[in-house]
Amino acid sequence: RDNGVVTSTEASEQLFDRARAVSPGGVNSPVRAFRAVGGTPIFMASGQGAWLTDVDGRRYVDLVGSWGPMLLGHAHPEVLAAVGDAVARGTSFGTPSEPEVLLAEEIVARASAESVRMVSSGTEATMSAIRLARGFTGRNKIVKFAGCYHGHVDALLAQAGSGVVTLGLPETPGVPSHVTADTIVLPYNDRAAVEAAFAEYGDQIACLITEAAAGNMGVVPPEPGFNQFLSEVCGRNGALFISDEVMTGFRVTRSGHWGLDGEREGWVPDLVTYGKVMGGGFPAAAFGGRRDVMEQLAPVGPVYQAGTLSGNPIATTAGLTTLRLADAAAYERLDSASSQLQGLVRDALDAAGLAYVLQNAGNMFSVFWGVDAPVTDFAGAQAQEAWRYKPFFHAMLDAGIYLPPSAFECWFVSAAHDEEALSRIAEALPGAARAAAQA
Ligand code: PMP
Repeated sequence: RDNGVVTSTEASEQLFDRARAVSPGGVNSPVRAFRAVGGTPIFMASGQGAWLTDVDGRRYVDLVGSWGPMLLGHAHPEVLAAVGDAVARGTSFGTPSEPEVLLAEEIVARASAESVRMVSSGTEATMSAIRLARGFTGRNKIVKFAGCYHGHVDALLAQAGSGVVTLGLPETPGVPSHVTADTIVLPYNDRAAVEAAFAEYGDQIACLITEAAAGNMGVVPPEPGFNQFLSEVCGRNGALFISDEVMTGFRVTRSGHWGLDGEREGWVPDLVTYGKVMGGGFPAAAFGGRRDVMEQLAPVGPVYQAGTLSGNPIATTAGLTTLRLADAAAYERLDSASSQLQGLVRDALDAAGLAYVLQNAGNMFSVFWGVDAPVTDFAGAQAQEAWRYKPFFHAMLDAGIYLPPSAFECWFVSAAHDEEALSRIAEALPGAARAAAQA
């Protein structure tokens, strides 16, 4: 069954029909639909390590990792055991509890924040960080970069990446123009544009938010020194620098992308957002940063922010256990699996004679199809021959490799991607690369 012999997607198709009857598009998040690649979304039934099994009983090597959280792979036995123990003690108390303190301590010990507040999604984290920045500075304007995605926060949906670019939506109905009127959108990696925006609006800008490394228009790393530059410009202008590490946090290093630049260069973001890995597959996220800024939050300060399930004991136990298991050896396995995989992809695409650029930010990477120069911003990302991804994706899927169903998403490897998983991918790549070349 594993070798592509069973190709039936009957059970997925039946579930998708039922799902569409009761949910818009049959999915609870647009990126899960196969709108860009065509076909029926695969309904997964279980996961184990680097592998997923669908409702038709077919196995796949997973290169989505639940869009980032599954750093250790699926169903890690120690995470399951800790979650089982926590569940047996009750699922939510609406009071402070020990796991949320332990998780906050772990985050503060690893990362660039002095103080953190837990929330339940990356969207909530960035939304709250922006409210806090506005409350702290008494200013309204915010700066973001085209192609960066920070969740579906109204003010941040302007020229956003991820599903917004996959579906080719120029703007989102339901976001009033006065809500985005204070959002300044600039090209990523463009220092002159940042200088110009601050020269004109410097005293009105509450914050600049950026992905620590852009991963939602494909992977577009910050040019060397770019984040440091942003931090300095913000500092000079009395604006807060918000580094969105929802995707990169606790993944590309034990802290996040900050471990690849800020920690070495000696700067810290004023505020930082986390999600994905820190929830271990449960809904947990956080925003944090400078203590003086964080203490503007209620109940200490006047900026209101709250959540019934914030710091939930099950979610924080899963996240804490995941982070405790994410030791130096786990990051070595993950980085090594990712670089081996990047090598395999290059070999296959080269052999097929394709023009492409493979870009990475630490162990996160993606392929830009049909381009021959590094992609540094959203315009560059959108100039790729995204249509080549459709036959590539389906050839990989048929061969039992589950990739993100969009050319604008990052490929996620886990510490559980072992030789067996990598060799399965190696077998699948050449045929898929030829399919992309012929498209
Ligand atoms: N920020 C970044 C950088 C993200 O990648 C995402 C999700 N892909 C978010 C924020 C939003 O997180 P969530 O989907 O948990 O709301």
